[in-house]
Amino acid sequence: MSIQQKIQDLRNELREHNYNYYVLDNATISDYEFDVKLKELQGLEAQHPEFYDPNSPTLRVGGEVTKNFNTIVHEHRMYSLDNSYSKEDLLDWEKRIKKLVDGEVYYTCELKYDGASISLTYENGNLLRAVTRGDGTQGDEVTANIKTIKSVPLQLKGDFPPKFDIRGEIVLPFEGFNKMNEERLEAGEEPYRNPRNTASGSLKLQDSAEVAKRPLECLLYNITGHNLGFNTQFETLDKARQMGFKVPDAAKLATSIDEVLEFIAYWDVHRHDLPYETDGVVIKVNNLQQQEELGYTAKAPRWAMAYKFKAEQVSTRLNEITYQVGRTGAITPVANLEPVELAGTTVKRASLHNADQIEKLDIREGDEVFVEKGGEIIPKIIAVDMSKRPVNSVPTQYITHCPECQTELIRQEGDAKHYCPNYNGCNPQIIGRIQHYISRKAMDIEGLGGETVALLVNEGLISNYSDLYTLKKDEVMPLERMAEKSAENLINGIEASKQIPFERVLFAIGIRYVGETVAKKLAKHYKSIDAIVEATVEDLVSVDEIGDRIADSVVEFFASEENKTIIQKLRNHGLQLEVSADKLANQTDKLKGLSIVVSGVFETVSRTELKKLIEDNGGKVSSSISSKTNFLVAGDKMGPSKRTKAETLGVEIITEKDFLLKLK
Ligand code: AMP
Ligand code: ZN
Repeated sequence: MSIQQKIQDLRNELREHNYNYYVLDNATISDYEFDVKLKELQGLEAQHPEFYDPNSPTLRVGGEVTKNFNTIVHEHRMYSLDNSYSKEDLLDWEKRIKKLVDGEVYYTCELKYDGASISLTYENGNLLRAVTRGDGTQGDEVTANIKTIKSVPLQLKGDFPPKFDIRGEIVLPFEGFNKMNEERLEAGEEPYRNPRNTASGSLKLQDSAEVAKRPLECLLYNITGHNLGFNTQFETLDKARQMGFKVPDAAKLATSIDEVLEFIAYWDVHRHDLPYETDGVVIKVNNLQQQEELGYTAKAPRWAMAYKFKAEQVSTRLNEITYQVGRTGAITPVANLEPVELAGTTVKRASLHNADQIEKLDIREGDEVFVEKGGEIIPKIIAVDMSKRPVNSVPTQYITHCPECQTELIRQEGDAKHYCPNYNGCNPQIIGRIQHYISRKAMDIEGLGGETVALLVNEGLISNYSDLYTLKKDEVMPLERMAEKSAENLINGIEASKQIPFERVLFAIGIRYVGETVAKKLAKHYKSIDAIVEATVEDLVSVDEIGDRIADSVVEFFASEENKTIIQKLRNHGLQLEVSADKLANQTDKLKGLSIVVSGVFETVSRTELKKLIEDNGGKVSSSISSKTNFLVAGDKMGPSKRTKAETLGVEIITEKDFLLKLK
């Protein structure tokens, strides 16, 4: 078999596995086997850049960075939808329709997904571009980001029209959203408020590799174009499924408004079982001929109507306001409610966010409050029922001291939250910090769990993470649920963490605002903890993507004598506090400060390797040419428009050979 054939076969096979897994939710291969095949393909593509394919499954991992998103005019405008809230609204709508078209009218009922709308253009079965809705007439091109969403087919299956736009919604299912928030909390960052905003924010991230990490999905609902050969909306959805798109199968054909109402009634209850958010139903005239006759108003199609579900709300008594202390010392006020049924679950607690929120709504213990479960996962209190306020009610006094350690709280300018500053003496902070240290993305200490950490702290065996390294087997044996074997595993797990690379240690030590990505950036730039300790705020902010907030936090962390002592102990125990020598060997500053664009197909290295070379040598890869571009590395088959743009802006164009010579 020729290499080209082999590459093609692997691409087809991986595409099919992606489709089964992400569109049909039906895995046909283990993750491990998938990875092996993906690596094989990556290897072959690297050796044979002449077979480059912009839609190869290997490109799903992202890596392309977009500084400025191009504005694209939609060939077919993206309309908004008219809203309805009752049976009467729908009957009125039907009356208007029947005046304008003849014959029976059927309706396709679909769920209204709550995310960010997107328009995908396909040409000859390949994804050409993806554009956000923008103002409906023009949006931002976000193709590089959309390609990382695995349920978006890069290449279609079966029969398809030669050119069309397909519209859909990018959503973030609850499960993935919750996981992202757990990680943010671990990194000491504020959690995201709701999946919709997070989904739409994701589309505009500059680094597509970051988008690739987010478990986004693309749900499709409409195809537009010329001479598509479809007759009804219902048929269109089915055709879209056959082409490989993810089209939820909730869609139903209704022959009357009564059947539409049945669909609505069903989903008003069952929407809470869906893996993602919906805020209503969309009803569309099924016959496309009739749709065309009906046409559009200035804002929306006459042939479609959204029906909005009412956000579910109940009222209940607020028994008590308590305060939680997080790992970073942040205080969160919590409303303890008289348990009440809401949207299919029993609600006992609601977040009150911060002092301002309590003051704004004048929330008091003993109040009857309205609780709503809207886009947010955690229910929220939206108002107080003032008519039911007890006569002896007193305004809430926000706490002034930590409920755990009684230290006076502080609130820095610009911060919404109060903090307990007793960094090294406040139990939930101590425990939380060690739990973060051992967590999977940090030191990943096998054999040690969050509960054991709490036990170890409460028993007085450890008071910071450096103490882990002096733990003895017979000290931990007496702990609850510990046995010979588990104690041994724990000690071995701790020992093994001494090999964890520096960038993860830097993340693990729990500097506020230093999440995984920031830790990587700092490690790459400074290469050792000593260099970071030395760095001033001005030094730090000069590092790409490090802002004032992070810089201040880093400096503050290392200004603490206690932290310095702990780091010294980690050093004595042999932890990795600098980038390892073999990693360093491949890194230089030769391209420092240079912004470089890569375009075309290369001979001796793959595009991915080329980009890595640029980054390892201190340069920055940018996806589009601007006046800030220092040079363009041009490979074979570079697009003529890129060349023209580089020439007009006077950007130097160099060959692959010249580039590699530069690095020698
Ligand atoms: P609105 O933003 O409230 O005007 O609602 C219009 C938006 O609903 C469209 O731009 C789509 O992004 C979104 N939408 C979600 N699900 C559907 C669906 N099944 N059919 C049509 N539009 C939908
Ligand atoms: Zn405290």
